[in-house]
Amino acid sequence: MNRGSWFGRRARPSRTASSVPEGIATKCASCGEILFARDFERNQKVCHKCQHHHRLSARERLAMTVDEETFVEIDGHLRSTDPLQFPEYLDKRKRAEEKTGLWEAVLTGTAAIEGIPVVIGVADFGFMGGSMGSVVGERVARAMEMGAAEGMPVVMFTASGGARMHEGLLALMQMAKTSAAAARLDLARIPYIVVLTDPTTGGVFASYASLGDIALAEPGAIIGFAGRRVGNQDVGTKLPDNFQTSEFQFEHGMIDRIVPRKEMRSVLAQLLGLLIQAVPNAE
Ligand SMILES: [Zn+2]
Repeated sequence: MNRGSWFGRRARPSRTASSVPEGIATKCASCGEILFARDFERNQKVCHKCQHHHRLSARERLAMTVDEETFVEIDGHLRSTDPLQFPEYLDKRKRAEEKTGLWEAVLTGTAAIEGIPVVIGVADFGFMGGSMGSVVGERVARAMEMGAAEGMPVVMFTASGGARMHEGLLALMQMAKTSAAAARLDLARIPYIVVLTDPTTGGVFASYASLGDIALAEPGAIIGFAGRRVGNQDVGTKLPDNFQTSEFQFEHGMIDRIVPRKEMRSVLAQLLGLLIQAVPNAE
């Protein structure tokens, strides 16, 4: 029964947790607690009971991170072709566009975080699993090139299942392209901060997501090249329960700090402030 319609509510964006009932409350995807929509939104989609950080859309993430009305999208006109004529690729992409209101799985642009100008990229897992095809790679690389050219720090929020198989080798090439762009950013002495969010895996983890000067992560995110199931098969032994989570990667030195969502904006501003002072090229 759709009780939401009794009150003339507009359709809500899709959620990762199942809605009970639609628009009024939702269920925590981790502990099952019933979360009232208004409180859930106010708590930045973090469960008040178990602190599970639910996935965010790129637009939601931007709204929580950058100063109001400072985001200006760049390269929004880029569109992927269908180089392999992969079955149903165009249909899948069209559905993803309608679902997310985006043209691709990453939004890039310029913005300010507590007054500090940055180039920012935010991935959207809701768009074909945040997969990196030629446009995602191109947008990420161009964002980094812009950071290098303009002397602006670059902040990337990652969320991806990996390379987009529908684009075959062209998708895999984006790993090299984004890695090369990150290396150029490094040569230009421009700070590059990565924020790994749930989930960051596959070809994105193995390229630009792992190349930040500083790597932050949200609590409880799945982070790693392959998940536990594949890992168990590969090594033939049972892997620890927290294998390939933010906490596991932090314990093993792959992540500098785990930052709860409500602190993310101020931590980013603090780090950017320090890095800008330390690196005279960056503004
Ligand atoms: Zn919960």
